[in-house]
Amino acid sequence: GRFADASGGGAARERAAPFEHEVKALLREYGVTVPRGVTADSPGEVASAAGELVPPLVVKAFGPGLVHKSDSGAVRLGLAGPAEAERAAVEMLAGLARLGIAPDGFLVEEQAAPGVELIVGVVRDPGFGPVLLAGLGGVWTEVLRDTALRLCPVSEDDARRMLASLRGAPLLDGHRGRPPADVDAVVRLLLAIGGRGGLWERLELGEFEINPVIATGDGAVAVDARYLPA
Ligand code: ADP
Ligand code: MG
Repeated sequence: GRFADASGGGAARERAAPFEHEVKALLREYGVTVPRGVTADSPGEVASAAGELVPPLVVKAFGPGLVHKSDSGAVRLGLAGPAEAERAAVEMLAGLARLGIAPDGFLVEEQAAPGVELIVGVVRDPGFGPVLLAGLGGVWTEVLRDTALRLCPVSEDDARRMLASLRGAPLLDGHRGRPPADVDAVVRLLLAIGGRGGLWERLELGEFEINPVIATGDGAVAVDARYLPA
């Protein structure tokens, strides 16, 4: 599989996992919506990359040691254009340097509209093998622990039931003036990851996580994704 190739062999072996933009490129092949984005090597390149995208923009740093990016100040949201994106990258570099982290580069991407943040993953049960996970995601994932699990491959019915079984399911029905979430789009995403022929078949022995998927009234966007090699 390509994920295994990306983290195996030669110099690449030192890299524990493919980078976020590489995982997102693979997600796109599976029909999963990801934000439009461009990688950049320097704050100056961040500015030119930003010029190709529609604000508000997000700047993230990537590299070994940047697993939980927000914890290291490696995610900046709500940037209005190239100048703000460049400044965010400069500040990010300084902050990361204080933590002893030198990023490999930046990912500049379009900011998805707000919605319900979900987690979708593939975990491995030692007895049963690959299992699809879906639940409430974003910053509250660990606090809420509201997830559903089903053996891969899941059917469309399984995917719908997983969502309906969450304690937080009413959030998907629309809440505080928000439109109901596009549950069909979330179900398509669950099938792209955990259904027959889905991405789970390419993961070899590793695990995989999209956190968050942002579900709006009109689609579901995977704004963060990572592969965890076995
Ligand atoms: P972390 O490594 O900390 O999980 P994320 O890439 O998930 O970093 O970014 C942190 C948070 O920022 C996400 O949970 C999400 O709320 C928000 N975010 C990140 N990228 C985007 C984006 N492209 N559009 C909208 N929100 C985003
Ligand atoms: Mg995340």
